[in-house]
Parts: sequence; structure tokens; C-alpha cells
Amino acid sequence: MRAKINITGIVQGVGFRPFIYRIAVKHGIVGYVRNRGDAGVEVLLEGNAQSIKNFMYDLTAEKPPLAQIDQIKSTPLAGKQKYSQFIIYKSSQEAELSGSIIPPDIAICNQCLAELRDPKDPRYEYFFITCTNCGPRFTIIERLPYDRGNTTMREFPLCGFCQKEYNDPANRRFHAQTVACPACGPKAYLTTNNGEPVQAKDPVRLAGKLLSEGYVLAVKGYGGFHIATSTLLEKPLLRLRTTKHRREKPFAIMARSIGTAKEFAEVSSKEDELLSSPARPIVLLNKSGNYNLSPLVAPNLHNVGVMLPYTGLHYMLLDHVGDPAFVMTSANPPNEPIVNDNDEALRVLGGTVDYFLFHNRKIAHRCDDSVMRVHENRQVFLRRSRGYAPAPIRLKQKSNRCVVGLGGELNNTSCVLFEDKAFISQHIGDVENVETRVFLQEAASHLQHLTNCHPEAVACDLHPKFTTTILAQEMKKADGLPLIQVQHHHAHAAALMAEHGLDEIVAITCDGYGYGTDGQAWGGEILQCTRKSEEFKRLGHLESQPLLGGDLASRYPLRIAAGMLGKASVDVESWLMQNNQQLPHGESEANFITNQLKKGKGIPETTSCGRVLDAVSAVLGLCYLRSYEGEPAMKLESAALAGEDKLNLRPSLHDDVLETTTMLRAIFDNVGKVSTADLAYSAHAYLAKGLSSLAVEKAKVQRVKAVGFSGGAACNQILSEIMRTFVERAGLRFFVHEAVPAGDAGISLGQAVVAGFCNF
Ligand SMILES: [Zn+2]
Ligand SMILES: [Zn+2]
Ligand SMILES: [Zn+2]
Repeated sequence: MRAKINITGIVQGVGFRPFIYRIAVKHGIVGYVRNRGDAGVEVLLEGNAQSIKNFMYDLTAEKPPLAQIDQIKSTPLAGKQKYSQFIIYKSSQEAELSGSIIPPDIAICNQCLAELRDPKDPRYEYFFITCTNCGPRFTIIERLPYDRGNTTMREFPLCGFCQKEYNDPANRRFHAQTVACPACGPKAYLTTNNGEPVQAKDPVRLAGKLLSEGYVLAVKGYGGFHIATSTLLEKPLLRLRTTKHRREKPFAIMARSIGTAKEFAEVSSKEDELLSSPARPIVLLNKSGNYNLSPLVAPNLHNVGVMLPYTGLHYMLLDHVGDPAFVMTSANPPNEPIVNDNDEALRVLGGTVDYFLFHNRKIAHRCDDSVMRVHENRQVFLRRSRGYAPAPIRLKQKSNRCVVGLGGELNNTSCVLFEDKAFISQHIGDVENVETRVFLQEAASHLQHLTNCHPEAVACDLHPKFTTTILAQEMKKADGLPLIQVQHHHAHAAALMAEHGLDEIVAITCDGYGYGTDGQAWGGEILQCTRKSEEFKRLGHLESQPLLGGDLASRYPLRIAAGMLGKASVDVESWLMQNNQQLPHGESEANFITNQLKKGKGIPETTSCGRVLDAVSAVLGLCYLRSYEGEPAMKLESAALAGEDKLNLRPSLHDDVLETTTMLRAIFDNVGKVSTADLAYSAHAYLAKGLSSLAVEKAKVQRVKAVGFSGGAACNQILSEIMRTFVERAGLRFFVHEAVPAGDAGISLGQAVVAGFCNF
């Protein structure tokens, strides 16, 4: 019997061909296996019917742990047997199937880690030790199929020893494309901040020692550079905060082990599972009572972003020093993508660091670390990137067409939707300048190439001036593709629906800013959406509030608070005067704001939930300057976690609008009488109860069974938990994101599904 089978999914770069080889030989089958140019695998089988049946059984039952089989297409072949043995053939360039992809980067496996530490092993202390089950994939691939020659490992020809392992079917490194050793693989080296080589027998260990002593280093990894330093010493941390323009933005850290992390943070079993997974994301952990790292690591927050080492190099950095963890923050200059090239690193980071720990392998695709947190045992993505991208999100329904979604503006990603798979790019960042725009274009086209997908439509935001909108319009013109513009909060809701396979939802979508259908700034919305429609209904929203000074109001939360308090007949003039040192121009600015408020004309307004949280944060004195995205709201949440709903305010709803002025007034009146923690919690409770009661009421009228919460504010644990309790008590189902970020990194998916599922 003869048959040809084509397998799609994640089947290249995961040890799939060696696996096929082994099960074919086991069942006495002859023929061949080869990688294809569409990221799929092709197998030709010759053998008796029973052995082919056994082979097919093992194919799904015994597949390698990292492989994902989406489809097996089997075609019986006529003719006589041609092969006398089973062979791994050279890859073919054929590419007719779409929707397969290579895997994300995978953290070092336990076997490689054991070899790294075994003095008798030929790869003892080799910083880039990998095998079929671990190592970089997405960050090294330039084109398909996944062969060494198509990756940045091309520049490192195998030595005799590695070649022998590569050719040996019994070896773990049989056909492992990243295989390397100290003799033939990439080399690590240390330089000063102007590129002068520093002689060292063991550059990685020396780098660890320098970090421990308080130097600042740029460390090249798989998908980019980290800026690294001590988590214990004040001096380098302070220096980093000034030179990296990061006043208070928390630094991610890399802990030596789970055990060490538990010394300064609380680690639940779910958090442990995420931290130790092959994806090794950064997980936000609550600081423990014994938190002994510098307060400068994550200032004024209850949690700290921790990850575990994910390459041999990382383990070696921490091996011989006493430090529990090092700062390992992504090396991207403000509003620019992560640095990925050695020369560029010297130019861009030379002024920030003392030394560079380089290696000589190129990075094909930059990829930042992923960031997660856990709410009540549920994983919440803040950033889905290394370890996850480009693996697809599987949807419950098939799209009507292939679509590329270009996302919004902040924290952006792009998405290629093909049938029931959504391929979301790595984290791109804020697309406001040329560098990030180019990065977005590259990431989007690379994704189309890797998946062999050809978009039939392009989707983007409704904002007329976003860089992504302009890019989408250019694609429309150049390729003649239909363009679908999707309102920001509709995209949030659509992403949530797609993730859970819902046909209909009443969604609470809360964030900082999204361009509304009326051209106004939205951000505290209750929308009704259905899967098949391009349209949605806005059922309710937060009260509109003045943004004194437009964008300045998002940067200086005192301004939004002043605008809101002005409406609540508070003597804003004296309050601003008392706090004028918190404004960049002090007294004169306070006067200016008061006058503007008195005039009351031409002030833009917003229904943003983020801005209301900002105002509360300012009234409580928790944050007067937003030095990073979401800072005032994050600090408010940190404070609230120690509080309770002392004020127990009744949500004030009029004509489907939840008032926020009265709430802020109540908070203002109780400052000094009730603890900051309790006031912070009461503000959360008011918004969560008010929005969910409005959503439940609307869902009941519209006979919709599902209520969801999306948008950046859905990363907030307190809001999510109160809403869930409220909605479930009302007998409805409550949905939040688990597979994609709730924030604007999920927008590209939402856009793609609106454009993909609607009928046009
Ligand atoms: Zn390994
Ligand atoms: Zn070698
Ligand atoms: Zn948003």
C-alpha cells in the first residue's frame, strides 16, 4: 500500500521529521519525510495496510510535545513500491497549503540544562546549548522551510561532533537545526560601552560578576537586548532610571530560580506553572512580606515582574553570584522597537551601559518578553510575545476570508486570520514613528509569508490619522484589497467574542482612549456586538468628562481631576493652588487651568475609564505624573488591594450613563477621614458595580446571555473580580481574555475577526 500525507500545524522546528522517521522504522515502513515551503510536512509511506494504520495511530498519539497537528491530508497512491528504506529528504520549496507555522522560541530544556552543568559533557558551559526540544525558532528564521540554511545559524557550519549527532536517529539532536557546540557555534564576548573588546576566559561569567558589582550591561539574547543590572544596589538602578528615561516604570527582573523568587514574592501554583513553562513569560508577582530587593525595581507597586532564565547564557549569568535576581529590562529607547543589531546596540545603548555582552549570531526577528499576571487562577496576558508568538489562537468558527489586521496605535500587534486560526505577531509597541511603522510592516509581511497566507481584506482602526490607518489605506490602494475600519472598542469586544467562540455579547470595554463613531474620545463603553455584523450598538457609557489641555490631561492627572471636581462644585481654585507644586509650571499653570475651567468653552471631553481612575489617583495623592502607560491606574490598584469598599457608593445611572462626577466628589470629601486604601477600593467598586449593573440590565433586555470585560482596564484585578461576581449573580456568563491581551495588543485580532466574519 502506498500513500502520501500532508500534515499542517506546528510541525517544523519541533523534531517532527525525526519523530516520523522513528515511527516509520518502528512499523517497518519505507518512503520519505520532508519539510515543505509552506511550513508543513510531507510524508510518503510504503508498507502493508496494518503497519500504515499503526503508523497513523502513533502519528497523533505519540507526537513530539511541542508539535501541534491541525490537519492530516492523506492521499492513496497507485503504482509499485519505489523505496527500500525510510529517508529524511532535503526540504522542498513547494508551498500550496496555508496556515502552518514554525514554533515560538522555546526555553532551554532540562536535559540541555543538565548537560550545561556536566563537566564531562562536550557542551559543558556552552551558553547556547539547545536540542530538538528547545532553543530559538521564531527569532532565527528568515524563510521557510525551517532548515539551518534558512536561519541565522547558517553562518555556523557544524563541526564533526555536532554533525555526527545531527545524523544519528537515536540522538536527541537528530536533525536539530540549532545544534551547536563551543567549537562550531556562536561565541559570546564582552566589550566596553564603546565596543573595545574585554579579554575574558569566560565572558558570560565575568558579565555576571560585573552585574553583581553594580555595573550596567546590555546583554544580547535570542530576540533582542536586555539592559541588565543589580536588583539590590541603589546606584546603578538610579542611574538607569535617569539615563533610560524611566522615572518610575517597573523593571522586569530575572530570578535565579523559583525558590529564589519565593524569597521576595508570593508564587501560587498557577504562577509557578507559567514561570517554569517552556514559554517563560514575565509574571507579575505580589511582593512578599520579605521583599528585600531595592524599592527602585518596581516603585510604589504591590507587584514585581519576574521571569526565570530561558537560555544557558541566563543560567550562567546567575550561577556564580550571590544575587537573587538581576534587572533584565527590554532595551528599547522610548517609543522605539527593541534593539536587535550589534552596531545599532553600540550606537543606541552605549550611553546607558558600561559593558556589552554580545554574541555573534544575528537576530532575524526581534521579539520582546511576554508579560502575564494571574487573576484568581486565570492567566491574563499583558503582552503576548516571546514564547507564544507566532503560534496561532484557535477559534471555534472559520473565517469567511483571509484578513490582515494592522491594530491600533499603542502596544500594537498585527494579526493574520486564516480559517479558524489567528496568527498574532510579536509585540510591536507604539506605532507613532518610522522605526515602529517599519517594524509593523515587516512583522505583518513575515507572518503572511510564514503562514503562506494571502489576505483578501485589510482591517484597521476607525481613527483617520493613525499610522496604521494610513498604512492600511496604502495597502488598499497598492493591492486592491477591501478595507474595513473597525471602531476601537468594537475590536476589543470582537476579540473577546472570537476567543470564546461567542455569537453575541454585551461587552464592557474600558481603557484610556479609542476613537468613537462620533469622533469623540471613548473609553468606558457598553457595546452590543454580534459575530456576523460589521455594526455594533452603543448601549451605554461613562459620563463625559473634560480633558483640560487635551493630551496634557492624560499626562498630568491633576488636570482631569480638576475638570471633574469643577463640575462637582468643589473650590478647584484653592485645591489646585494647594497642589500646584505637582504641576510642571506650578502656580501659573494652576491659574491657567482655573481660568480655562471658568470659561468652559472648547474643552474636549472623554468617556474614558482610564482617565477617571487617573483622577482618583491624583485626588488620593498616589500619582501626579503619568511617566508610563497606565501608571496612575496601576498605582491606584496597588493601593486598593489593601482596602475595602468603605464608602459603598450607589451607582448613579441616568439615561444609560454612569455618573463619575458624584463618585469623585465623594472620594474627595473623604480624603483624610477614610484610609487611602479604602477610598481607592471604593472607587473601583463604584465603577465595577455601576458598569456591570448597566451591562446586565441591557443584556437582559436584549436577551443576550454573555457579558464580557475587555480593554486595558480589564487587566485590573479588582474591577474584573467585582464585575464577575455581579454578572454571575445575575445568572449571566462573564467572559474575560485568556488567550490574548485585554489591552490594545488584542485590537488587531478584533479587527481581523470583524472583517473576516462579516458578510460583504
Ligand atoms: Zn534541549
Ligand atoms: Zn559543534
Ligand atoms: Zn483599547
